[in-house]
Amino acid sequence: MKTAENIHLIEIEQSRPGFNHFFGSWVCQGEYNILIDTGPASSSLNLITSLTDLGLKSLDYVLLTHIHIDHCGGLSKVLEHFPEAKVICHEKGIKHLADPSNLWKGSLKVLGEIAEAYGKPQPVDVKRLIPHTLFTMKRLNILETPGHAVHHLSFSYDNRLFPGEAAGNFFIIDGLEYMRPATPPKFIFNVCMKSVEKLLTLENQPVFYVHCGSAPNSHVMLNRFRDQLILWKEIITNELAKGKEKILERSIAALFEHDPNLAPFNSFTPQTQSRELFFITNSIKGFTDYLNSGTYK
Ligand SMILES: [Zn+2]
Repeated sequence: MKTAENIHLIEIEQSRPGFNHFFGSWVCQGEYNILIDTGPASSSLNLITSLTDLGLKSLDYVLLTHIHIDHCGGLSKVLEHFPEAKVICHEKGIKHLADPSNLWKGSLKVLGEIAEAYGKPQPVDVKRLIPHTLFTMKRLNILETPGHAVHHLSFSYDNRLFPGEAAGNFFIIDGLEYMRPATPPKFIFNVCMKSVEKLLTLENQPVFYVHCGSAPNSHVMLNRFRDQLILWKEIITNELAKGKEKILERSIAALFEHDPNLAPFNSFTPQTQSRELFFITNSIKGFTDYLNSGTYK
């Protein structure tokens, strides 16, 4: 799908029901050919086929927003296919890409069978990896934006914002705009908010989300996400005040009632609803753990 003169979304086809139109990699073609995130290991060949279909003969850089297996799992296959490509990633993520065994163990624990469907990431040659602190390129701004993950980066390249999951998830499904936080444990509200505010200090620019969506105006979208985080905190705090019993179920019901960003959920297919319910529940757990912890007063 062509979205602008030299930026393309590659939707990475998935075999798991409900997970299609969920993974995308953005490709910028021009002075440098750049890929943002690779999707999971299990679909890396689909990604490479789509890149080839696009006519991409060489790749200069892969920019990784964060080291979760659904964003970097396909990296080793992409690097095999494009032997000249280098990877820019958070300096603290390098060891997990070179030896993904702990990353894999952690993913199985948090995601269970979804991790199995994403596939086990393979090790990457450390010589291909450049820590974000040592890399500069004209028109590229690398920002540390912890929150969704501790070692999370956002990129502004050529006045286009790639916020990873620091700006939440945003999809347009059948013309309806759907936005939700991606705040699994361990979530710290203020850290996440600071990252959103950091992105708001950038000039207004188009925004390209890691899970397929895009929008023309980063300031509008970041403010909308900021308001959503505040609303979720308020709603989940209210539900917690009523007691801990069935807190997840009650929070889900209250969020669906009060957050207009979730309204399109009702028109999703049952498989997409079940995927989204899994991630919404995980995001609520991030909030309840945070609100129950001693760090919150
Ligand atoms: Zn992630």
